[in-house]
Amino acid sequence: MKKITIAIDGFSSCGKSTMAKDLAREIGYIYIDSGAMYRAVTLYCIENNLINGEVIDIEKLKNEIDNIHITFKLNEKTGRPDTYLNGKDVESEIRTMEVSSKVSLVSAIDFVRSAMVDEQQAMGREKGIVMDGRDIGTTVFPDAELKIFVTASPEIRAKRRYDELESKGVKANYDEILDNVKQRDYIDQNREVSPLRKADDALLLDNSNLTIAQQKRWLLDEFNRVIELNQ
Ligand code: C5P
Repeated sequence: MKKITIAIDGFSSCGKSTMAKDLAREIGYIYIDSGAMYRAVTLYCIENNLINGEVIDIEKLKNEIDNIHITFKLNEKTGRPDTYLNGKDVESEIRTMEVSSKVSLVSAIDFVRSAMVDEQQAMGREKGIVMDGRDIGTTVFPDAELKIFVTASPEIRAKRRYDELESKGVKANYDEILDNVKQRDYIDQNREVSPLRKADDALLLDNSNLTIAQQKRWLLDEFNRVIELNQ
């Protein structure tokens, strides 16, 4: 069967990665979390003192960007890929509030984006990939056969992120998370390079009131429809 490229974009914490991972597993495609790559660059900046408050040392980061290598390795226990930064497993470190609060600043930098987009396009060369992010359907894979744009209200997304952190035993503050969600929406939609927007040919999915099972069914139906069209 001919393989296709699947681009899933949308706002932060709207369940994109859960749906993308589940779909990839179900159909035997590779899953790539492009947000994890921007998070890993942000972690690198924090660990190497390239961020001070809201200020990033752009020149230093530019000199070091080629030394930042991000890879993914399947975690046999969870069945999902973990993110590695220069060979070190950073899967939990990139999910902290500290990284979340700085990532939109780092991901707005043009040379960071072009370096990540080059890597992402290389990963998708053979198709058979599900990638989620903000600019996958618009910039990374504008020719993807299936594009989905996911959204849900900021309050619902903050509640989901809160529940996720609590379930991992991480102490969370709902108001702080809601502020972070809104702030990231704003920066992501208003940055100059590849702002978050729905591609004209993407299908819109508002999952505010959908269960995971309903969403899964919908996505699989769309996948089957597009696969049939492309054989
Ligand atoms: O998807 P996630 O919330 O983990 O992404 C973290 C951040 O990385 C986003 O808020 C956004 O600033 C950035 N990002 C991006 N382009 C992508 C994926 C993520 O700018 N393709």
